[in-house]
Amino acid sequence: PTVEIEHLVVRHSADRAPALNGVSLTLTPGRRVALVGPSGAGKSTLLSALMRLVEPESGTIRVSGVDITELAADDTRRVMTGLTQDPYVFQASVKDNLRLAGPEATGEELAEAVRRARLERWVERTGWDAVLGEDGRTVSGGQLQRLALARALLNDPPVLLLDEPAEALDETAADALMADLLDATHGHTTLLVTHRLRGLEQVDEIVVLENGSVVQRGTHEELVGSPGYYR
Ligand code: ADP
Ligand code: ADP
Repeated sequence: PTVEIEHLVVRHSADRAPALNGVSLTLTPGRRVALVGPSGAGKSTLLSALMRLVEPESGTIRVSGVDITELAADDTRRVMTGLTQDPYVFQASVKDNLRLAGPEATGEELAEAVRRARLERWVERTGWDAVLGEDGRTVSGGQLQRLALARALLNDPPVLLLDEPAEALDETAADALMADLLDATHGHTTLLVTHRLRGLEQVDEIVVLENGSVVQRGTHEELVGSPGYYR
């Protein structure tokens, strides 16, 4: 589905400037958009609006042409899957954690064969064989994020929302996670909120947010030389 955000205004409190002040952004099927900008720019607020955790003052969010205020919250969640910063892990191997993934995210069970094929593709892509046998509760922060991402991708979410997935990791682990993540989400409709610019030449569009407004947008190539590009 295409997600169209138009002239979105969100105000957290009446006596303060809006956290989003007329933001427009389109997520087109199969394309990835990175949302970057300094702390306080409004990135989390935009994700909250997509997840319907805050009510916009004005503007619209449409999913396949339908205003999300006309969708049931469950339907919105079925379309847009976000990763939680603190994924729930069963006391079981990583592999079993992946096997158990899904119903809570999409409300439907995938055929076992489909799930197995996707898992195999994932393992192949990340070279993850060694980790699969480990207890899910003992893996590193980076592996935990990979587990959460793999879980989400196994369900083939129509739209993937990623909020600072490398936030809690040290530099080396963060770079490695982002590289895997950019590899694994290729071809998935994705909104990636991040302050890490490395690897963003792979995304289709970078949107720079500052003080609730989009100040720049374009590909990495278009933005990297331009003055004031957020670093
Ligand atoms: P981030 O930079 O990841 O958005 P913040 O520290 O800005 O982290 O925000 C953490 C949480 O606190 C978010 O859920 C955000 O919506 C909320 N938050 C941020 N600023 C305020 C505020 N002034 N009043 C209440 N909640 C806030
Ligand atoms: P970012 O994710 O880019 O760091 P946020 O969306 O968290 O930015 O915050 C944008 C602005 O809105 C900031 O001024 C922040 O303090 C404010 N804000 C965020 N969440 C809340 C909240 N729940 N209540 C009040 N103010 C908030």
